[in-house]
Amino acid sequence: YRSHVLVCGGTGCTSSGSQRIRERLEKEIAANGLSEEVGVVKTGCFGLCALGPIMIVYPEGTFYSMVQEDDIPEIVSEHLLKGRVVTRLLYDETTKTDKIIPLNETNFYKKQHRVALRNCGVINPENIEEYIGTGGYEALGTVLTEKTPEDVIQILLDSGLRGRGGAGFPTGLKWKFAAANEADQKYVCCNADEGDPGAFMDRSILEGDPHAVLEAMAIAGYAIGASQGYIYVRAEYPIAVKRLEIAIAQAREYGLLGKNIFDSGFDFDIELRLGAGAFVCGEETALMTSIEGNRGEPRPRPPFPALKGLFQKPTILNNVETFANIPQIIVNGPEWFASMGTEKSKGTKVFALGGKIHNTGLVEVPMGTTLREIVEEIGGGIPNGKKFKAAQTGGPSGGCIPAEHLDVPIDYDNLKAIGSMMGSGGLIVMDEDTCMVDIAKFFLEFTVDESCGKCTPCRIGTRRMLEILEKITKGQATMEDLDKLEELCYHLQSSSLCALGQTAPNPVLSTLRYFRDEYIAHIVDKK
Ligand code: SF4
Repeated sequence: YRSHVLVCGGTGCTSSGSQRIRERLEKEIAANGLSEEVGVVKTGCFGLCALGPIMIVYPEGTFYSMVQEDDIPEIVSEHLLKGRVVTRLLYDETTKTDKIIPLNETNFYKKQHRVALRNCGVINPENIEEYIGTGGYEALGTVLTEKTPEDVIQILLDSGLRGRGGAGFPTGLKWKFAAANEADQKYVCCNADEGDPGAFMDRSILEGDPHAVLEAMAIAGYAIGASQGYIYVRAEYPIAVKRLEIAIAQAREYGLLGKNIFDSGFDFDIELRLGAGAFVCGEETALMTSIEGNRGEPRPRPPFPALKGLFQKPTILNNVETFANIPQIIVNGPEWFASMGTEKSKGTKVFALGGKIHNTGLVEVPMGTTLREIVEEIGGGIPNGKKFKAAQTGGPSGGCIPAEHLDVPIDYDNLKAIGSMMGSGGLIVMDEDTCMVDIAKFFLEFTVDESCGKCTPCRIGTRRMLEILEKITKGQATMEDLDKLEELCYHLQSSSLCALGQTAPNPVLSTLRYFRDEYIAHIVDKK
């Protein structure tokens, strides 16, 4: 082909019509006799979801945004036939009066560094050969032919990779514990039950680069001595599920999953398990209980999964983004990965940027990037000239970060120190009109709905907290209610069985910490 047109096939652009656009494009290309010269590629997400449907024309890399079906004849007749760019469809930021600037020099992309997202928006995720063509499965080949399981674990330890699902536990250490436990069967699980409101990092990786996750899981299996993997993925992610099914079938066909991979004598296969929409199944023990075919409720720890996990066998569970980093760490070396980020948080982090911000979408930045850089530069600031008020990270387990902390470098420890948490990467921006008590109430409503009910502090405590928040927002609360709300937060943190209950008070505590005056205003105003 002399030209390739990449059309985003991620959920965001698909919901704004990219499939119809791609079909129309293929028809127009055929009608103009260009089928032999121009290839159309369905990719995963490019990241700039606010401007979808998105299309990039190569070799020059012209970035068209908000493309509609009716724009297709002009793109074909002008750009593909005559080589003339359709300037009205260009992403604003790439156009200058004198020249068109390359995409990677735009504010949205220039501070990003794509490791986990490296193939998203670049390859066709339904074609294993495109993944192999970008170096895919090289890491697995290297591991199986040149490294011992101990070497692999050491590489991960040296890289400093920490779990991207929220807790930030060192991945190499988790693998080391599971490898040390003898058993006739071990398991590797992938947590793709992304349930935080506003979070879609894992979905985009699975939709855009599913083989990276399969490859990393096989590497994990080799490192800990497991022959079976499970991906627990939300049934609400139909595109991700379909692409995973295709990827698993292709990997088996190419001998990259199944028996005797790379003639190494190592066997490893992967099955999918679909979650039915329970947020608590993102908790590792609940997830395993659900895979076992039981109601997804957390189990007490210890024993930890590395000793007794799935079916009571040693198991490691990592989230999608964690796995997506691993092939690159093997190929480029742990020093390469450890050279990015901060002292205790290495590498990059993917954030789903949403809320009151211009460039909603998916961004990947080195750890240590400030919130200001993400919000003002990459995100393009707050719409309608409004002021930034706070950003919420970590979903229902996280907290709100006020403007005074905009310049704090984002990493696991810094976010914790300012009363929030990394979480899996949801980042919701709020402007000056947002009521912070409403925000706390929104997340509490979510946890009340999603509490599995197994333990009393969470089952009853979240309800009592929500009742107080409702009283506050209706102007019926007293200062004693506010004290009771705060006291309940500490009880839940200390006595709930799993992380859902233990972290449920965080949105309330962080808004109380930084915006207590808003709570008091609701109380005082109505007296
Ligand atoms: Fe279930 Fe909540 Fe208890 Fe976790 S803390 S076990 S979600 S009731």
